Amino acid sequence: MRNSSADQLILETLGKQKSHLTSHQIYEAVHLRLPALNPSTVYRALDRLVNQGKVTVSDMGLGAAVFELTGEKPHHHLVCQGCGHITLIADDQIAPLISNLEKNYHYKIKTNHLVLFGFCEKCQDTA
Ligand SMILES: [Zn+2]
Ligand SMILES: [Zn+2]
Repeated sequence: MRNSSADQLILETLGKQKSHLTSHQIYEAVHLRLPALNPSTVYRALDRLVNQGKVTVSDMGLGAAVFELTGEKPHHHLVCQGCGHITLIADDQIAPLISNLEKNYHYKIKTNHLVLFGFCEKCQDTA
């Protein structure tokens, strides 16, 4: 009961924010709604949701892992190391790469949120 309500609150929080949140930010949002939840319950629920594929976890160069709803369709990002700007990449750009890799390396790839680092057009001059 307690577990499922933590799961539910995490999914609602991520669904409303539509952005990447650290586990600490998620805990703070969930804690406001249900103060009785302790951090370890929230973090365990988060782990479970990641394992179930409902939530993605990524390193976006922010110093802490960030979480996001997987949603119906996967999505990916380019992250500029100069200005920190995040560009959304549609899955149809990445899906052919993933399926090639699965075929060529006999892998079942679970990564559903790919983050590529580099420099945006604006920052290339100064890089
Ligand atoms: Zn994302
Ligand atoms: Zn940039």
